[in-house]
Amino acid sequence: MLTITPIPAFTDNYIWCLEDRKTGKALIVDPGQAEPVTEYLEERGLTLDTILVTHHHPDHTGGIDELNRRHSPTRITGPAESPFKGLTNTVHPGDTVVWEAFEFAVMAVPGHTLDHIAFFSETRLDDAEILFCGDTLFVCGCGRLFEGTAAQMHQSLASLRKLPDTTAVYCAHEYTLANLKFARSFLPDDTGLADYEKTCQQLREQGEATVPAILGKEKRLNPFLRWDDPELIKAAKAYGARQGLPTDNDTAVFAAVRHAKDHF
Ligand SMILES: [Zn+2]
Repeated sequence: MLTITPIPAFTDNYIWCLEDRKTGKALIVDPGQAEPVTEYLEERGLTLDTILVTHHHPDHTGGIDELNRRHSPTRITGPAESPFKGLTNTVHPGDTVVWEAFEFAVMAVPGHTLDHIAFFSETRLDDAEILFCGDTLFVCGCGRLFEGTAAQMHQSLASLRKLPDTTAVYCAHEYTLANLKFARSFLPDDTGLADYEKTCQQLREQGEATVPAILGKEKRLNPFLRWDDPELIKAAKAYGARQGLPTDNDTAVFAAVRHAKDHF
């Protein structure tokens, strides 16, 4: 039996664990901390087989040295062009990472950082394709632009937007309510966002994760995936006019929304 579970770390990170209860093997994504991962593996008697890394930030890689010493995983797989040097298996966009029945396609998604990659599996789990996207796409939000340009991030999100609607989006942070607060203020008449906010508030009140998101829903609701949606364009144009920002093409519309969130 295969499952994916979030292991909470720091204040709002999720370290994802894909595990096969039959073989006892585990795949861990972006372990910023070692302790919660070791605890999780030991409680369930799992063997750490593979670590996947989406980008170099310490809250995604900080636990790797320790986990490597304690559990000796078969491989630590991440982007070849990365400032993080603790990998034992480097991959490039277009490569495939095979783990048990899953074949993860490596996708380039620069913007948040320049080394950022995502892992996408067409093979489904619980009727959903799997996307590990780190800090690129969040529930109703996207990652901040620390290293890349708005044009790069727009391109990255455009490639994620082409994935099937049924894809489960396993992002690395619980930022949903803050993202929805911004989205609701930017698009106050969007009733879909209002409904979604209520659902997510209830989940959080019950101590539950709002992640994974379902990509089809994100395509309809997430302001950072709606650069060609007339309702979003109208709001971006009004914001751009007030701020003196261009909004004459898709990338500029996306950049205006990112600017608005950065100054919210
Ligand atoms: Zn990051």
